[in-house]
Amino acid sequence: MSLTFRDFQMLNRLRCEEGFGHPVAVDEPSWPLQNWALAIAGEAGELCNLIKKTLRGDFTIEEKRGEILAELADVMTYCDLATSAMEADTGETVMAKFDVVSKRIGWVKP
Ligand SMILES: [Mg+2]
Repeated sequence: MSLTFRDFQMLNRLRCEEGFGHPVAVDEPSWPLQNWALAIAGEAGELCNLIKKTLRGDFTIEEKRGEILAELADVMTYCDLATSAMEADTGETVMAKFDVVSKRIGWVKP
């Protein structure tokens, strides 16, 4: 199933608040923005650990493809929640930054 950024952001926030019982707001005292940042870093660390093990020869990327994709999804999920906590739209935020970088390198959208 494929989702738009908007659909994903809505479901992700709803699951966090209803499923995990965890408010998504930057002024939430039990879960401030630094916690979202640490969660993103934690998931990125899990991803990097898998990649480290491929470099070490424990397994190939193809053998761990599913797990690697799952860690990438975990990173994206927390990035989206952090964006929600800042009351911003994930799709707009990603495209705004995409456009900034595109302009910087002189690339024009087709
Ligand atoms: Mg993970």
